[in-house]
Amino acid sequence: MRKLATIQIVSDVQPIEGADKIELASILGWKVVIKKGEFEPGDPAIYCEVDSLLPVKPEFEFLRKSSFKRMSDGKEGFRLKTIKLRGQISQGLLLPITALGAHVIDLVPGTDVTDLLEIVKYEPPIPAKLAGEVKGPFPGFLSKTDEERVQNLLDELPLYKNSLFYVTEKVDGTSITIYLKDGQFGICSRNLELVENPENTYWKVVRELDIENKLRNLGRNIALQGELLGEGIQKNIYKFKGQTIKFFDAFDIDSYRYFDRKSFFEIMNNFGLETVPVVFDDFTLPESIDEILQMANGKSQLNPDANREGLVFRTTDDKRFSFKAISNNFLLLDEE
Ligand code: ATP
Ligand code: MN
Repeated sequence: MRKLATIQIVSDVQPIEGADKIELASILGWKVVIKKGEFEPGDPAIYCEVDSLLPVKPEFEFLRKSSFKRMSDGKEGFRLKTIKLRGQISQGLLLPITALGAHVIDLVPGTDVTDLLEIVKYEPPIPAKLAGEVKGPFPGFLSKTDEERVQNLLDELPLYKNSLFYVTEKVDGTSITIYLKDGQFGICSRNLELVENPENTYWKVVRELDIENKLRNLGRNIALQGELLGEGIQKNIYKFKGQTIKFFDAFDIDSYRYFDRKSFFEIMNNFGLETVPVVFDDFTLPESIDEILQMANGKSQLNPDANREGLVFRTTDDKRFSFKAISNNFLLLDEE
């Protein structure tokens, strides 16, 4: 589970030009607009990331006008998203420690207080053709797709300053995992395995791309992971007709390991399947998180008229340390 609300130390507070009632606080690699004087550098605070859905409680009512949401499961709350105030990007919410009320906890940075504050992740509605019928949980012999946000890696990034990364475009669709294990062929969404049904977009596209035969011909226990893109998926910023898959990984089930970059691209080439766009090949990280976030802004290689969602960085060695940098330009346009 993602830690949406954690204890953190405010590392910096800066004035905002032309604003006398608000200031800009830094927490890890994040920037948040606060009321002037509310926090000082060194103060502990509760940091709530974007995508948090805060509970409907009197102390959060100030968010109602801008942020009230009802999710498809009926749950209501206040959703935090990326905003711009006085020309300044602000992400998330900084709360005083007193927001924990009577709960007593150690003020250790990183401590997860998501559940204590009754915060859940905001999930946009899933169209019926994507939801499908659930066959079961995500199989334990596979590994789920996921990437940490670069803003949360302030302490880890310096360890990789000499590493080489390959950088791919983060594409905005929905995660798909396709596997063949001991003769059994299956398809999973981000967290679930799906029953075969021609009405279901995952299965429809996998059949169109003839992936079952490709995997069977290879004759080993393998999974392919990618992003399902196109009509009816997210906002289809690529303006694709129909749907397709752009792959970003292949997984060797028997050794429970991802294939390295070279083998992955070879497999894709042999299968005649498409990968996510590669933006940089042997890349060393810039000094700061702010520079990495700047890099994430740019046009999509899949549609030059669209702002790309961001970038995914992964080391070329077999550690495969990786993270995502979501473009703030993209997030500001993301109105859902
Ligand atoms: P969060 O964890 O931030 O709440 P999330 O885990 O639901 O969000 P995303 O923010 O979309 O998902 O980020 C991770 C996902 O990005 C992966 O699970 C994968 O499906 C998708 N993705 C898209 N493009 C790429 C890419 N080039 N490389 C790796 N993953 C990618
Ligand atoms: Mn995630």
